[in-house]
Amino acid sequence: MIELIPEKRIRRLVQRYGSFYIYDKEIIDQYTGRLQNDFAGINFLYSMKANHNPDVVSFILSKGFGVDAASLNEVRMGAANGLGRNEIYYSAPGKTDEDIRGAIRNAVLVADSLGEVERINRIAGEEGLSVPVGVRVNPDFSFHGSGGHPSKFGIDTVQALDAVPVWKGLGNIRVAGIHVHLRSQVLDAEILEGYYRRMFQLADDFQTALGQELDFINMGAGMGIQYSRRNTPLDTESLGEAVREMLSSFHAKFKRAKVFIETGRYAVGKAGFYVTHVLDKKISYGKTFVILANTLNGFLRPSLARLVAGYAGSGSPSGNEPLFTSLDAFKIVSFHPEWESTETVTLAGNLCTASDMIAEDITLPVLKKGDPLVISNAGSYGAVLSPMQFSSQRSPAELFLDEAGRFYENGKMLEI
Ligand SMILES: *Cc1c(COP(=O)(O)O)cnc(C)c1O
Repeated sequence: MIELIPEKRIRRLVQRYGSFYIYDKEIIDQYTGRLQNDFAGINFLYSMKANHNPDVVSFILSKGFGVDAASLNEVRMGAANGLGRNEIYYSAPGKTDEDIRGAIRNAVLVADSLGEVERINRIAGEEGLSVPVGVRVNPDFSFHGSGGHPSKFGIDTVQALDAVPVWKGLGNIRVAGIHVHLRSQVLDAEILEGYYRRMFQLADDFQTALGQELDFINMGAGMGIQYSRRNTPLDTESLGEAVREMLSSFHAKFKRAKVFIETGRYAVGKAGFYVTHVLDKKISYGKTFVILANTLNGFLRPSLARLVAGYAGSGSPSGNEPLFTSLDAFKIVSFHPEWESTETVTLAGNLCTASDMIAEDITLPVLKKGDPLVISNAGSYGAVLSPMQFSSQRSPAELFLDEAGRFYENGKMLEI
């Protein structure tokens, strides 16, 4: 939809809001719909930490996604959207007793350590409850093959399998599922397929140790999006086909288990656009600088990409999600690509630090004060990662754009 919005409406939004994000409902619909279509039999959880904008969340949940919550607040947002306990999964290291107590009625808690299993059992007892819990496992395989790694997340497979007899003796919990999450932003369907296969085997091992059927197998995230033109998009059709075959061959073993895949970025990453605008322009020692509003602070990742790439010298730094994907992960475009005259410019932000720079010596149409510029791939880990406390500026707005071209802010339609 966004490509159909006339430039003069964008200019009015710039006048009203300064900088802002646009989340395009049609694109969210396309990406979430593709998953639901290609992965029949899988239940999807939306990883809310990628983007917790209320309009985005309520649209994705209305499509039948559950919630992968990373905090008590995210559990509450899921519950406020009408989701029941078995649709919200709360998995994070270092949950406090208050987190556990606050979430225990609204989410399935996924214990991240041996100690946490015991604490959930104690708190469930104090609350007079008996609850299903998940266990986050740090598996004895990697995303690519064999061999486990030390991790701050989860319980090593051996430790978890050894603890099963103890867990079976705890009176207020029942171990009902396992959760593993190892990687994000994977574009190779074969690697994901191999990982899913190892996950089903792990679930089988747990089920055998527990002597009862699991309620759920949560395979975590992994699916990537095309950030740069060098990326080949993930082949969800062939991966979906492979997953359907796995589901049918494991069906005899897992009769009641729901199989979850989590995603934040696949659902919203491509649907977000960050709109900034030109505040000033100057020439220094022959170089043209365009000063933009809220770049490092409003949308951290493009500035961070330059910073990371700068440290890597001539090598190409490896991704470190969700902070860094690659230097060319964000496209910067002007709203008037047809313009005849172009110039070479360096794009910097209005913060008092030299790190606030998103592009050097790129060719763009000649820009003047007030002109909007758009940065792509801003739907996931955009607004939520941006350090707006720094310099006390006004935060970018977050606008939801529907299929009819209407803009919403926090559920309220804008007259603009
Ligand atoms: C962050 C996170 C995700 C989401 O990852 P994406 O790359 O946004 O899909 C899923 N599961 C867990 C446990 C996470 O921490």
